[in-house]
Order: sequence, then C-alpha cells, then structure tokens
Amino acid sequence: MTNFADLTTIAVGGPIASFIEPTSRVGVIEAVEDADAKGLPLCVIGGGSNMLVADTPFDGVVVRDARHAVSVLDEAAPVENGETIVHVNAEAGCNWDDFVDYCVNLGLEGVEGLSGIPGTVGASVVQNIGAYGQEVASSVESVEVWDRKDKQTKELTNQELHFGYRMSVLKASMYSAPATPAAEFFPTPRYVVLSVTFALHHSATGVVGYGQLAKALGVEVGERMSTTDIRNAVLKVRASKGMLEDSHRYLTEAMRGTKKSELVAIAHNAQRTQEGNDEPDYNRHSCGSFFMNPILTKEQAARLPEDAPRFSATLPDGTPGVKTSAAWLIDHAGFHKGYKTSENATAGLSTMHTLALTNRGGASAADIMNLAKTVQDGVERAYGIRLIPEPVVIGMSLK
Ligand SMILES: Cc1cc2nc3c(=O)[nH]c(=O)nc-3n(C[C@H](O)[C@H](O)[C@H](O)COP(=O)(O)OP(=O)(O)OC[C@H]3O[C@@H](n4cnc5c(N)ncnc54)[C@H](O)[C@@H]3O)c2cc1C
Repeated sequence: MTNFADLTTIAVGGPIASFIEPTSRVGVIEAVEDADAKGLPLCVIGGGSNMLVADTPFDGVVVRDARHAVSVLDEAAPVENGETIVHVNAEAGCNWDDFVDYCVNLGLEGVEGLSGIPGTVGASVVQNIGAYGQEVASSVESVEVWDRKDKQTKELTNQELHFGYRMSVLKASMYSAPATPAAEFFPTPRYVVLSVTFALHHSATGVVGYGQLAKALGVEVGERMSTTDIRNAVLKVRASKGMLEDSHRYLTEAMRGTKKSELVAIAHNAQRTQEGNDEPDYNRHSCGSFFMNPILTKEQAARLPEDAPRFSATLPDGTPGVKTSAAWLIDHAGFHKGYKTSENATAGLSTMHTLALTNRGGASAADIMNLAKTVQDGVERAYGIRLIPEPVVIGMSLK
C-alpha cells in the first residue's frame, strides 16, 4: 500500500486507500470524476512538496497525473513591440524543474528564476509559485482544467486565474477562509489542472530580479544575464539554504519516473558534492517555506519593531498593506535555525533556514504539527500575528 510519506517531500503521512496514476488526459478526468461521483475524498497530488498529511489512513482516492509532455505550440512570432513570444504547453504531471530546464535550453525567458522549485507544472499555478523576483503568474497564458462542479473541461485565462501572492482562483476554491478548508473540494481545488500554456520570450537572457541573486552573479538588480547563468545561480543559492529537494527521493519506487533521469543524476551529483557524502539531507525534508509572509494593515505593521522587514503589498480586499517576513518573526520570537521542541525531537527547523520545518528522520505528521503549533503560538505571543501555513494541511487542523 502506498503512503503519503512515500509521495511527499517532508516524508510523513498515512496509508492511501486507492492510489491511481492515469497516463492519459481522459484517464485523469475519469479518475477524478469517479471519485467525485462516489463522494470519496479526492487528493490530486503532484510532487507532494506542498502538503502535510496526517498519519491516519486516507480513506479516499489519490490521483497522480503520469503525463509529462511539453510541446512548443508556435514558432517565435514577432509582436508589436518587437519582442517575440513563444507559447509552450506542458501537461500537469510534468516535473516543474524539468520544464524550467527545457525552456532555458530552448532559449526561452520567463521561468528561469523559478529553477529548483519542487513539484509539478499542474500545481505551480495553484499557489502561484514564486522566488527570486519571479512568479509563475507572469508567464502563464492559460490553464486547461477539469471543473469538478460543472463537470466539464474549461480554459481559464491568466485574468480568470486571479493570481495573487501564493494564491489563485484554484487555491481559493479549497478554502472558506485562510487555512479553513471548504468541505466541498478540499484538499484539491474545484479545478483540476490538465495542462498549462505559457507565453515565454524568445531570449537567451533574463532579468536578475532579486538582490541575493544579483550578489551571487556579481551584477546589479535589473541587469540582464544569460538565463542559463541565472538558473545555475538560483540552484546554487537554493542549495546553500537547503531549499532544494533531496534528490534521493527520485531513487525510490514511489517516485521513480516522475522526473527526467538525466536531471535526477545532475541533482544527485550536485547534492553529493555539496554534502561530501551520499546520505539523506534532512534539511531538504520539508515543504519549503512552511508559513506565508504575513500581509498586514498599516496599523498592524506600525506595531512591529522598527527593524522588522516591511515591503509594500496588497491586502486580500485590494487595499494597500505591508508585507513582513515570516522568517524574521520566527527568528526574533526565539525560534532559531535548528530549533527543536526537545533535544530528541525528530522534527525541527532546518539548520539552514528558519522558515523550513523539517523531518530529521522518523518524524510523524503529529511531530511536525507539534513543532508548527509551537512556532505559531510563539510568534503570536511575541508579535500578535498568527502565521498562516503555506502547505495544504490534510486530515489535521492548523489555524
Ligand atoms: C525544498 C522546497 C522548496 C520550495 N520552494 C518554493 C519556492 O521557492 N516558491 C514557492 O512558491 N513554493 C516553493 N515550495 C513549495 C512547492 O514546491 C510548490 O508549492 C509546488 O508548486 C507544489 O507542487 P507539487 O506538485 O509538489 O504540489 P502538491 O504538494 O502535490 O500539491 C499541492 C496542492 O496542489 C494541488 N494540486 C496538485 N496537482 C494539481 C493539479 N494537477 N490540479 C489541481 N490541483 C493540483 C494538490 O491537490 C494540493 O492541494 C518549495 C517546497 C520545497 C519542498
């Protein structure tokens, strides 16, 4: 029997009653529709890098789309401002970093800053992945979905996807309020992604959009660099923070074949060189950033200490707000890198990044939850801010 622990980057989660891997578009729709028609809990899973699932059995259906194809829809076509846009379509099950590598090698600009983010193309649009000054929202043209409510396929345009910070209409369909699941569809959106069409620029260079990246490349923010150099620098910076997947997971039975074997080998070599051994890297056994950066009203932000980071942002109601750093809040509330609730705890903060909750080997979902709640409560006590988890929390409640 397959367990969520076998399918998720944080390697926790209980047994799955029914695990299906359709290899065709119609197979995906049928698997989803069949589970919905029977009223069974449904979880469409990609790379399992943004979910924390309970240890108890999941008495429903887990669907993992086994389609990975990428196709270039048109030749580079000049548009009015002299730029050239190339449309590329990727099936939902395609590994995200395989897709980025493909685009960079083809001389396409637009997703290079998102190198090394685990997961799939299908899930990339659910939470509008972002890093190093880029968000997937800026390169998505449209998404083909199966609408579980209207029971038909639809093409949602970029505008209809209502992208925001770690948000889209897909993610919104799973929640009735922040971190409060909406029973109708949770833990998978109303719209199951079948494929994503990207509009990318035909260019071998891209913009360096983030200070840390610019420093690593020895250039100024806003300068243009080769997309290959940007990709390599992003992977290096990510590795230095433990913000990549542990490449060992692709050698397991449950994950084999979900990522291109050449790229697994490259990632594996890089990890071995960095670590100096071939052991699992527990700093990478995480869901990435566990909490979202809070977006506060100006009044709330004014109550933060003077040295707390502040960035302009938009509140969910569309009014101006202030984004602060969840990592800063956690660290300044006393939870430093490597923090554990007790010396022998198997769950702990990454020793490289305060925002990553990690499974140090043998942790259960309950252990991760205990750590998450401890951090959440501590930050609230110190700053009056309740951090909202970024991953989808299934079978447990973390508000
Ligand atoms: C080490 C590490 C670093 C990370 N860094 C970043 C980062 O820099 N930026 C960032 O934004 N995120 C980051 N993440 C989070 C995560 O990688 C992304 O959110 C990713 O897009 C999740 O993809 P997945 O396929 O693993 O989704 P899963 O975890 O499998 O699923 C997440 C949600 O998406 C839904 N879903 C999956 N596939 C589909 C589909 N086809 N249709 C509809 N819904 C679907 C699931 O039902 C679930 O609700 C990181 C995670 C890790 C472990």
